[in-house]
Amino acid sequence: MPRPIVIVGASLAGLRAAQALRTAGHAGEVVVVGAEERPPYTRPPLSKELLAGDHEPAQCALPSDKLDVEWRLGTRATGLDLRRREVELEGGERLAYEKLLIATGARPRHWPGDEIALEGVFMLRDLDDALALRAAFDARPRLAVVGAGFIGCEVAATARKRGLDVTLIDVAPQPMTALGPAVGERCAALHRAHGVELLLGAGVDGFEGAGSLEAIRLADGTRVEADLAVVALGAIPNTDWLADSGLELQPGVVCDGTLAARDALLQMIDWLVNNKGLTRQQAYALSSVAVDLRISNLVDTPNFAVSAILDLGVFERARGHHFDDD
Ligand SMILES: Cc1cc2nc3c(=O)[nH]c(=O)nc-3n(C[C@H](O)[C@H](O)[C@H](O)COP(=O)(O)OP(=O)(O)OC[C@H]3O[C@@H](n4cnc5c(N)ncnc54)[C@H](O)[C@@H]3O)c2cc1C
Repeated sequence: MPRPIVIVGASLAGLRAAQALRTAGHAGEVVVVGAEERPPYTRPPLSKELLAGDHEPAQCALPSDKLDVEWRLGTRATGLDLRRREVELEGGERLAYEKLLIATGARPRHWPGDEIALEGVFMLRDLDDALALRAAFDARPRLAVVGAGFIGCEVAATARKRGLDVTLIDVAPQPMTALGPAVGERCAALHRAHGVELLLGAGVDGFEGAGSLEAIRLADGTRVEADLAVVALGAIPNTDWLADSGLELQPGVVCDGTLAARDALLQMIDWLVNNKGLTRQQAYALSSVAVDLRISNLVDTPNFAVSAILDLGVFERARGHHFDDD
């Protein structure tokens, strides 16, 4: 039975890839696995129109119901077996694939150290986060936003639009540091003009409160009183589920110029066939051992394991033996 194309991640990239497959005429089975229960939706309004109360969740939906794919929503991928070409799903099911697209996006970077166990501290990534934050805005809390990047600046602007007192805090001298000082200064001026208090060059030391947030403590000892905080420290790729796969992670998946993931196993097989005169079966067997050693953290890199095995002459002794294909 032919295996499907599996897409892991049912958000913008996963949906668009599935649509592109059908548009390009792919007639085979396509399965889209997504951790969120909701069908795909667009995130940009979450910090703007939806948070402001100008949009409702239905207006964020990305049309997907007419697409001929199997949706596996509310299902998290927990691992990847490159050799068997199977995605492991939570609960233990294994989903075989012909080709795999990794589209698991990113999640917010957490405050370092222990989780902040205070009511009133939020992060913003998905629709439920945005709805919870919007509801919290209703009580007109004093809001502190930690991190003046894109999402921090957008949340600060939307909160001001809704009439909240807003303090925007960042250790950098300007907001939006990624865009350089000129844009940063312009952005700072805009925020000030709209009544946002900016605390720049200000490191945050911690969050204070008894059960609920009461203040943000800065490194210089200043206390910024707040009922609500949004921690907006950037995003990190969702690649934890690939940690033992043998794919190279830095921490995003390392790809070539065609967005093909760097599969250590296949790379090594090609190298051994081209440079050491091994058959593909022999190269496969040797590379599998090397990748297993890497996964077991016994050596730093699969290439090192291959060199070590070749240096030991193990392969020379094994040459001529039959290597079973998997
Ligand atoms: C509040 C906010 C505002 C934004 N505003 C803008 C903007 O104005 N302009 C702009 O260009 N961009 C904006 N962005 C960024 C934009 O939304 C992202 O670039 C876009 O969502 C990336 O799409 P994606 O499909 O690659 O990843 P994501 O949208 O991150 O989706 C990844 C999906 O994979 C799922 N997933 C993760 N791990 C697993 C797993 N192990 N198994 C199964 N599923 C998994 C996640 O649940 C998620 O649904 C904003 C983002 C946010 C959060």
